[in-house]
Amino acid sequence: MRDYLAPILPGAVVGVLGSGQLGRMFAIAARQMGYRVHTFSPETDTPTGQVADVEITAPYHDLDAIRDFAKNVHVLTFEFENVPALAVEAAALFAPVRPSGSVLNIAQHRVREKSFLERNGFPVAPFRPVNSLNELRSAVEQIGCPAILKTAVSGYDGKGQIRLTSPTDAEAAYAATGSQEKILEAFVDFELEFSIVAARGHDGTFSHWGLIENTHRNHILDLSFAPAGVPQATSVEAVEIARNLLETLDVVGVLCIEFFLSRDQRIFINELAPRPHNSGHLTINAALTSQFEQQLRAVCGLPLGATDFLAAAAMANLLGDLWQDGEPNWAAAADCPDVKLHLYGKDQVRPGRKMGHLTALAPSADVAVERVLHARERLGEK
Ligand code: AMP
Repeated sequence: MRDYLAPILPGAVVGVLGSGQLGRMFAIAARQMGYRVHTFSPETDTPTGQVADVEITAPYHDLDAIRDFAKNVHVLTFEFENVPALAVEAAALFAPVRPSGSVLNIAQHRVREKSFLERNGFPVAPFRPVNSLNELRSAVEQIGCPAILKTAVSGYDGKGQIRLTSPTDAEAAYAATGSQEKILEAFVDFELEFSIVAARGHDGTFSHWGLIENTHRNHILDLSFAPAGVPQATSVEAVEIARNLLETLDVVGVLCIEFFLSRDQRIFINELAPRPHNSGHLTINAALTSQFEQQLRAVCGLPLGATDFLAAAAMANLLGDLWQDGEPNWAAAADCPDVKLHLYGKDQVRPGRKMGHLTALAPSADVAVERVLHARERLGEK
């Protein structure tokens, strides 16, 4: 039996369940530090597979394939939280899975997640589980409008979400979200959204990159910048919430908490992602240790790295929409000397699909935002 607390050192093999851009950036960090990376997903020539040592292609429900995969790695992590619980359980018999399946189980289901947070005293907006149209009607009565109806699983980037502005919207909203389990959440009239990307080592050490402010377009993250423009007291409160939450969940790895700051200055947790997060991409260029290196350090049982920022930073996502008039003008963006280009190696372009991002460093967050938006605009130059 392996000693699960012994550090897993460079040269070892790290397995990643999932194969998107998060796995790709994780694999780059791991290979930089001399680890080997295996990735598992149902696809081929994936963003992660292109930079990993080994790419295994099989469905997540193929438990024999999952077991074979786990037998050939020293530790497993995931870059995608909708890996079925059975697959994680099967893998965990052969290699440690970090964060554990129980963290994944909570984070992959909105009702379980919100109930867990509420039960443990973390701030969430009022919500009700919804399993029928009648339950939706009484939830609307209790919570009031506006409210948001979301599917309990597999929803991300605003997929499976409908806003109800009046109780009469209930029937149409229920029909539009299909027969699956749902949750009704009170709409938070927020001043801004921010996230905390935090990490916890197996020895309980905690680290984070402070508050990162986020803006969304069509429910998809558009822009992130740090430091966030929030009062110091809010920042202290949110970091304490993050510390307590990672401890309560006994996380080993990176976990992102998305928050709302309401107009009356209260903070609410929107959702958890038990992995590196889009809002933390700016740490690659702007911090001493990136969220991906930290994930690697945490899951391998190494000491966590310093999270100091080298400068203020802003990150702008590059969605498939940018390709609508042809290939973006990479040379024009490269002409912006304080801006870094990251592309994920996806050959299928679709509107709304995350294809890459830009990060700008600057003496202040405002200037970093200006620089990154300017560079993104230049991508459209003909
Ligand atoms: P989610 O997929 O839950 O992260 O939601 C995506 C985005 O939709 C959030 O970042 C918010 O901009 C918006 N949103 C989701 N839930 C709420 C809510 N309860 N109140 C206000 N805005 C919300």
